[in-house]
Amino acid sequence: MTPAAHAEAIAGIRELARSELSPLPPHDAPGVDRRLLRILGQIGLLPRIFPSTHGGAHDGDLSAVELCLLREGLACESTAAETALALQGLGAYPVLLHGSEQLATKWIPPVARGEAVAGFALTEPGAGSDAGAIALAAERDGDGWRLSGAKKWISNAPDADVYTVFARTGTDEGARGVTAFVVPGDTDGLSGRRLEMLSPHAIGSLELDGVWVPGTAVLGELGGGFRVAMRTLDLFRPSVGAHAVGMAQAALEAAVAHAGKRRAFDRPLRDFQGVSHKLADMATRTQAARLLVYDAAMAHDAGAEGVTSRSAMAKLFATESAQEVVDAAVQIHGAAGLERGHLLEHLYREVRATRIYEGSSEIQRNIVARELYR
Ligand SMILES: Cc1cc2nc3c(=O)[nH]c(=O)nc-3n(C[C@H](O)[C@H](O)[C@H](O)COP(=O)(O)OP(=O)(O)OC[C@H]3O[C@@H](n4cnc5c(N)ncnc54)[C@H](O)[C@@H]3O)c2cc1C
Repeated sequence: MTPAAHAEAIAGIRELARSELSPLPPHDAPGVDRRLLRILGQIGLLPRIFPSTHGGAHDGDLSAVELCLLREGLACESTAAETALALQGLGAYPVLLHGSEQLATKWIPPVARGEAVAGFALTEPGAGSDAGAIALAAERDGDGWRLSGAKKWISNAPDADVYTVFARTGTDEGARGVTAFVVPGDTDGLSGRRLEMLSPHAIGSLELDGVWVPGTAVLGELGGGFRVAMRTLDLFRPSVGAHAVGMAQAALEAAVAHAGKRRAFDRPLRDFQGVSHKLADMATRTQAARLLVYDAAMAHDAGAEGVTSRSAMAKLFATESAQEVVDAAVQIHGAAGLERGHLLEHLYREVRATRIYEGSSEIQRNIVARELYR
């Protein structure tokens, strides 16, 4: 993709977000912002990540580049909208890629329209980075399965209408004994509670107390749950970097504007070399992160060599860089940037979790090193 095509695509998404989403009053009720999701469906952004065969807008497979463009552009204007869109994809893609046609037809169109909320439930109180250690058990019961255990730090929980739940179906240890299931949010025995986190989107824990699902709820093969998880995460990993790049870009733009307006010692802040060099470093890191993100996304779309390592580098560098850029932008704003409700105060809270979820920075480094040693 040429820089001009990238700029044009981002500008279009930002313009749409500014005109349709910025005027919305803030969502100040607990839980998922369903109105925002419906608007994302109506203005055609959410359908762009789903295929036209299932109520979406694209033909063929979703391109990781398209996903990154949407996430970067939206994150520049509204992290709430960006996160809402991404979580619909994360929760629903296992169903789309590995579910029966009947399951995909039931769930994907309402998710693509923003009428049903999806969740991806892998992490447990005792298993985060080491996802192969999950303990939630699925036991055969009649022509279905009975699921018992807990999930924690699940985005969109406990409000989601449908979850992809990963459970242990076999006696095999580690990844081999894990299977993915579709679990509707209103299934008997499924409950949950909200968690207050330093991350502005809705998130919670789930309790599965003998939740029964039919055999048709299995996604992919028995014992193939990790493949299901990884195929979705491989598609989404570069786009977490794009989310971070969008936030860094927003912080950079705010810092440039503030440094031009705010005066100290009889001159605008931007005339101090200490400030201008900081801005230059912020711009350089943001652009370097962007290049890594789109390199990884293009490698994914082309089925190229080294995509695992390139995606890990992109996620690692973009999220770490965004944290630095947002922090530097806060510094340039001084006290104003820390006022509750200021863009920088919001980004400072929002950016932190990206270094932890969908594989922490340390896990990304492990992946890069493992690929180096091959
Ligand atoms: C805002 C937010 C949203 C989330 N949404 C979801 C969701 O929708 N679905 C879902 O399933 N999960 C979700 N998670 C959970 C997330 O995936 C986990 O937090 C993540 O996998 C890390 O697990 P952990 O928090 O248990 O940390 P731990 O695994 O306990 O790790 C703690 C620390 O140890 C480090 N560490 C662990 N292993 C190694 C190692 N081998 N080498 C070096 N360092 C290591 C980690 O990098 C980290 O710094 C979310 C988390 C957050 C914060």
